Amino acid sequence: MKDTTRHQGKRRLLAKIVADKGITDESVLDAIRKIPRHWFMDSSFEDHAYQDKAFPIAADQTISQPYTVAFQTELLGFKKGDSILEIGTGSGYQTAVLCELGARVYSIERQQTLFKKTKNFLNKLGYRPKRLSFGDGYLGMPEYAPFDGIIVTAGAPFIPKPLLKQLKVGGRLIIPVGEGGTQIMTKITRKEVRKFEKKEYGDFRFVPLLEDKN
Ligand code: SAH
Repeated sequence: MKDTTRHQGKRRLLAKIVADKGITDESVLDAIRKIPRHWFMDSSFEDHAYQDKAFPIAADQTISQPYTVAFQTELLGFKKGDSILEIGTGSGYQTAVLCELGARVYSIERQQTLFKKTKNFLNKLGYRPKRLSFGDGYLGMPEYAPFDGIIVTAGAPFIPKPLLKQLKVGGRLIIPVGEGGTQIMTKITRKEVRKFEKKEYGDFRFVPLLEDKN
C-alpha cells in the first residue's frame, strides 16, 4: 500500500472541496487530509478515491461520500475520549475518521465478509477501535451502552428503539431516515431520560440498513 505525495496533494484538494461545501470543523478536515482513502477502496477504483463521491466496495456495499462522512461526523459533535457507536462498518473509512478524532469507537457490520476484511485491515493500519462486531445494527451494542454518540451509515426505514435507549442523556444519534432513493439526515438528542429532540438536515443517499441477516 503506497501513499505518495500525489495522493496527499489530492487529499488536500478533497478537504478543500468538503470545506467549500460547508464543513468547518478543522479536526474533521485534518482527518480527511491524513487518512489514505484510496487504501479503503478496490484498487480498480483508486483513481476515484479523491473525488467527493461514494464508491462500491465489497459485497455490494459502498464507501460513503467524503462530504457525507464529514457532515455526519461534524453533527455528532463529540470530544476526545467520548464513546461512539457506528452502525455499518463497511470499508472502515468512517471508523478510521472517528478513531483519528480520538473517539472510543464501537462498530457493527452485518456482512461477514466485509466485517472480517475490515477488521484485519484497520488493525493493519494501526487503528484500534474498542470493538468491531459482526451482527445486527438495529439492536445496537447494549453490552457497551450508553454512548455519547451513535452514527448510522446506512439508510434506516425508521429509527430503531434500541439505539435511542443506548444514548446517554445529552447523547446524539445521527441517522439518515427514509426508504428508497433518498434519506433525511436526522439528529436526535437525548435531552432527558424520556425527552428526545429531533432536527433534520436535508437529503442524502445511502445503501439500506437491512433488517435480516440474509
Ligand atoms: N461507514 C461505511 C459505510 C458503508 S455502507 C464506510 O465508511 O465505508 C453501509 C454499511 O452498513 C454496509 O457495509 C452494510 O453492510 C451495513 N449494514 C446494512 N445493514 C446493516 C445492519 N442491519 N447492521 C449492521 N450493518 C448494516
